[in-house]
Amino acid sequence: MNIDYSPEELEFQQEVRAWFKENLPEDLKQKNMRGEMLTREEIISWQKLLGSAGYLVVSWPPEHGGPDWNATQRYIFDAERAAAGAPVGFSMGIIMLGPVLMAFGSPEQKEKYLPKIESAEDWWCQGYSEPGAGSDLASLKTQAVLDGDDYVINGTKIWTTYGHYANRCFCLVRTDNECKPQAGISFILIDDMSAPGIEIQPIVSIDGEHHLNQVFFDNVRVPKENLVGQEGQGWTIAKYLLTHERTTIAGVADSKLNLANIKRIAAENEVDGKALIDDEQTRLDIAQAEINLMQLEFTNFRTLADTAAGRAPGPESSLLKIKGTDTQQELSELKVKMAGYYAFPWHTEGFVGPEDFAYATQTYNFLRASTIYGGSTEVQKNVVAKMLLGLR
Ligand SMILES: Cc1cc2nc3c(=O)[nH]c(=O)nc-3n(C[C@H](O)[C@H](O)[C@H](O)COP(=O)(O)OP(=O)(O)OC[C@H]3O[C@@H](n4cnc5c(N)ncnc54)[C@H](O)[C@@H]3O)c2cc1C
Repeated sequence: MNIDYSPEELEFQQEVRAWFKENLPEDLKQKNMRGEMLTREEIISWQKLLGSAGYLVVSWPPEHGGPDWNATQRYIFDAERAAAGAPVGFSMGIIMLGPVLMAFGSPEQKEKYLPKIESAEDWWCQGYSEPGAGSDLASLKTQAVLDGDDYVINGTKIWTTYGHYANRCFCLVRTDNECKPQAGISFILIDDMSAPGIEIQPIVSIDGEHHLNQVFFDNVRVPKENLVGQEGQGWTIAKYLLTHERTTIAGVADSKLNLANIKRIAAENEVDGKALIDDEQTRLDIAQAEINLMQLEFTNFRTLADTAAGRAPGPESSLLKIKGTDTQQELSELKVKMAGYYAFPWHTEGFVGPEDFAYATQTYNFLRASTIYGGSTEVQKNVVAKMLLGLR
């Protein structure tokens, strides 16, 4: 595996670096670096700015507006984005729905939905999990029953990230109760989150913020042409999404920025008259975190090399998810330890102390969820045991 960039890749790196330097608004950068939650408007205007430079749908093929980059270019772009202190152009439409529509959508669906994802006009949320169906997604119960030209949807989805920001939702629904659970699931598009029968209730998470929701569907009518693929194909589509190439799943780029920030904080801050970096335990913790992060980065490079050689990453994604989220949690814990008693307030409201520590506890609390969302660590370990270690 050669981990040096080619002259062309280095040129590309300079180009991207210069763009972020010139275009990233300073206030957005500061907010992102502090770990503060961005507003809907801030996220959308950042997505539109990225889009204006052709930097939004970077994983999409050129026929749908993507820049035709290879996996290494996408990796470089993400590394430069994080190093600049820029937020991700977060969008489930781009990462999840776009690839699904390209693979399974009808020509009409592609024409209707893809351009509005590309232009950041539409905000899609993901309606998979239910109160009784998370890791065991196949047991989902939300029903879609065909009635004339419409499906009528009843049930509830939970943990819907940014459901209150979204205008549209892609959902897994049950269209058949008689067959094997997986075979009775379909993938459907809900065009309007303010349609009659939809109620969105906020869930405030342990960081004190409102990212999550429970969404209730009471006789919601959705035209039958909003079904993606065939009835009963939802499980295949969901699996396609999970194995879809993800070179940034480990979050290495953001963790590297985080570590650099932690080193700066340790050099610039004192607790009880002593510089944090002069504390032996703090130095050891930082060194250990750096070693762990470096190991993760090299594992990520191996996956990248495989992708560059045309091999699609499989269960290795699970390894990257486990170690990537472990590292994120480790770094947030380190910051809390460094903050000492400044970490007592669990929310930034009324925080008094060095600004560097204002969001330490809030971020630590939020990141408890990182080993749950996107497939919990325990379930990822099952995948590794089965697919990589051959255990049954
Ligand atoms: C912050 C956040 C954002 C989310 N956003 C979304 C979203 O936008 N859309 C959406 O659809 N969902 C979303 N989710 C839901 C997420 O996908 C589920 O929480 C996750 O799949 C786990 O399901 P569960 O919560 O039902 O827990 P459960 O599946 O009930 O698991 C409970 C515990 O049991 C363990 N466990 C379960 N099965 C096994 C097994 N076979 N072997 C060993 N251990 C097991 C789990 O690891 C976990 O520790 C989000 C969750 C969080 C926390």
